[in-house]
Order: sequence, then structure tokens, then C-alpha cells
Amino acid sequence: MYTVDLSGRNGIVFGVANRRSIAWAIADKLNQAGARMLFSYQGERLLGTLETLTSGFIDPVLVECDVTEDSQLDHVFDVARQEMGSLDFVVHSIAFAPKETFLEPFSNVSREDWKQTMDVSAYSLVAIGRRARELMNEGGSIITLTFLAAQRVVPGYNMMGIAKAALEASARFLAFELGPRGIRVNAISAGPLRTVAARSIPGFGTTASRASSVAMLRRNIQQQEVGGLALALISDELGGGITGETIYVDAGYHAMGMILNPDEEG
Ligand code: NAD
Repeated sequence: MYTVDLSGRNGIVFGVANRRSIAWAIADKLNQAGARMLFSYQGERLLGTLETLTSGFIDPVLVECDVTEDSQLDHVFDVARQEMGSLDFVVHSIAFAPKETFLEPFSNVSREDWKQTMDVSAYSLVAIGRRARELMNEGGSIITLTFLAAQRVVPGYNMMGIAKAALEASARFLAFELGPRGIRVNAISAGPLRTVAARSIPGFGTTASRASSVAMLRRNIQQQEVGGLALALISDELGGGITGETIYVDAGYHAMGMILNPDEEG
């Protein structure tokens, strides 16, 4: 039987809030492959959930961090250095936009909301990548999570679409700069999944059910399907030649053009 072996590999996972988090599905796969992880969580209230979720994992390390605070990011990487010595992978699965940005017309976005959304959802990847490169002594893999609204208009997604476009471009620029060190950087563009972050987007349920009826596979994806691709991208053996890429895990939705009557096609 073929198995992906990440035993002896160390990484940081940003963005587990609960069992539904995409970061959790990724961490679950990485744990099964034998990797050891530091989990960075936002705020004290998430610590209990993290402790429960990671019990039974290989010597997990839990560190609180708000990614808008440089000192807290420094602390995460200091702990990683002390506990793990070096890093092989980082998972960035973080986004936030103020609620009004989803409710108001896009053209009404305030300067403050623009800055905050970009800071948490796009700049954080660069801030993390810069710190990660110093601990990736033998190459590594950095993964971020994006969405189709980076490339196409998804009504209501608004400011987060702009941030995802910046995030995808940032991943490419990082991939270029870190490539000579053997560090790969890729974005996974996931289809709609019911998570805390998704619930804050008005009309998400309708969008998700429409996506499932027109996607090539005529269904939505599941968290573990994103986890599977992340595992492949982190494994040098499987994903070693892939960098600077945005890969869709969306049941083929992104490649559809004009949709006439999906129920009668194919
Ligand atoms: P989630 O709510 O489980 O995860 C979002 C995470 O971001 C949480 O853990 C939250 O604590 C963290 N976060 C927000 N602001 C932060 C800050 N200032 N500092 C540190 N952490 C912060 O939801 P999710 O759907 O798993 O989202 C993970 C990623 O996947 C996001 O980038 C999201 O845009 C992306 N994504 C989600 C979907 C979907 O449909 N759920 C689709 C495509 C992409």
C-alpha cells in the first residue's frame, strides 16, 4: 500500500478555529502522514478547542497569535525554532473582512475596512513567508487558501475578493523569491465549505447550493478533499515540482462557462 510519509517533518498550521476549519482537515491529513505541528490560534477562547482536537497528535505545540501583530508572529516562529529547530511546511488558512464589506456595495468600502481585510487576509501570508524562510533550511512548502472571487466576480464577496487577488499574487511573488532556496509556495482555491468564515458571508448557503448544481461533478467538495491536495503539495515526493500555482479544489466549478440548464446537460 502506498502512503505519504512525513515522519520527522515539522510545520506550522495557522487557522484552526474548530472541527469544520479547512486548516483542521489539512492538519488531520498531515498528522496521519506522521508530521509534527505547531498550531497558531487566534485568541484565548480557541485554546480549549485546539487542545481537544490535537490530543493524540505527535507532540503538538499551541501558540496564540493575531497575525496583525508582528510581535505575536515573531513569538510563533521563536517557539517553532526552540521546539522544532527547523520547518518543512507552513499552512496559512486565515481570512477576515468586516461584516459591512459583505453587506454594503463594494464601491462603498471604507479605507479602514480595505486595510484591515488586506492586512489579515493577504499581508499575513507575506509576513509569515518571510519568517518561515529563515527556518526552512532544506527547502519547504507554504500553502495558502484562496477562493474563485480572486479571479471572477462573486456578488457579495466584495472586499474579500480583492484580498484574495492580492493573496494569489503574493503567493506567486513569494514562490519566485523563495524558489532558489527550494521553498515552494502554492494557493489552493477551494469551493464553498460551511465554516465559521463562510457563515459570515450573506447568501453563502444559496451560493453553495447553486455551485453544487452546476459544478462538473454536480456536488460541492468536502474539507478532506482540500486536505488531500495540501498533503500532496507538502510532500516533496508528490508535489515537489509545483510552485507559484493556484490549484482549484471545487468539483470543476471554476472551469464552467455559460450555464444553460445544468440538469439537462451531460
Ligand atoms: P475558519 O473560520 O474555520 O478559519 C478562518 C481562520 O482565520 C480562523 O481560525 C480564524 O481564527 C483565523 N483568523 C481570522 N483573523 C485572524 C487574525 N487576525 N489572526 C489570526 N487568525 C485569524 O474558516 P475557513 O473557511 O476554514 O477559512 C480558512 C481559509 O479558507 C480562509 O482563507 C478562507 O477565505 C479560505 N476559503 C474558505 C472557503 C469556504 O467556503 N469556507 C472557500 C475558499 C477559501
